Amino acid sequence: MRIGDYQLYSIETSEFSLDGGAMFGIIPKPLWEKKSPADDQNRISMVTRSLLLVNDDHRIIIDTGNGTKWQEKFKDIYQIDLGRLNMERSLVKYGLTPDQITDVYCTHLHFDHVGGNTTYQDEKLVPTFPNAKYWVQSENWDLANSPSEKDAGSFMRNDWSVLEENGMIEFVDGKESFLPGIENHLTYGHTIGMMHPIIGDTSQKLIYMADLVPMAAHIPLPWIMAYDIHPAQTVKEKEQILPKIVEEEWIIFFEHDPVYQAGKVKYDGKHYQLQEGVIISE
Ligand SMILES: [Zn+2]
Repeated sequence: MRIGDYQLYSIETSEFSLDGGAMFGIIPKPLWEKKSPADDQNRISMVTRSLLLVNDDHRIIIDTGNGTKWQEKFKDIYQIDLGRLNMERSLVKYGLTPDQITDVYCTHLHFDHVGGNTTYQDEKLVPTFPNAKYWVQSENWDLANSPSEKDAGSFMRNDWSVLEENGMIEFVDGKESFLPGIENHLTYGHTIGMMHPIIGDTSQKLIYMADLVPMAAHIPLPWIMAYDIHPAQTVKEKEQILPKIVEEEWIIFFEHDPVYQAGKVKYDGKHYQLQEGVIISE
């Protein structure tokens, strides 16, 4: 898919599973299970999906997934599987290698979004994208480096420590645009200062929903995650942006949906839901 002067590619970087109850908050299991079947440990299948934007001067990757730094114990808990889908293989598919990436846009610093920022090379922690600038919202950086008890398990310092040491982090304050042709939207319900890139031209717009709407099943207003730090705020933020998405027929990109790369949204007067899936790249 092409928007403006960017060619867009969907980059799947891992398969993994999280607890279905945690993924759907207050929604009763008989309802969410119809959308996302659970395994015998109540986990549902998900992916990490990045968006790659390519123009003449930039090769931008939005989020980097779970990455490869996992110990067996965690790999097992989250069923992280890099066998079929991984960053390297997905980049190769589009003729790219990690050293060609110019920018890494970090929506927020949770491990399943920035785990691929860094990697171990001969037991040494190194940046996965050695020539890239890594863009991070300052408020989210502050939270990630002094998280609350509720948050602590979602942040892993080795996803950014070596980037900080090498001066590769570019701090962003607020919504101001820092990459050409990309606007930013900010939300505060899931975590503090989650950034959502919006790519648009005169004919269409696409927004990267990150954890505001991680899967198509999360489009209806009350379908939100128990991971959110301010759940009522998340509902409000969905209520604010979904009417615009429906009215202007924006494409929304799903970072964690195992089936849909992206989609369009409809409103029947009562509920928001997926109108149709959209394929970003084959
Ligand atoms: Zn998150």
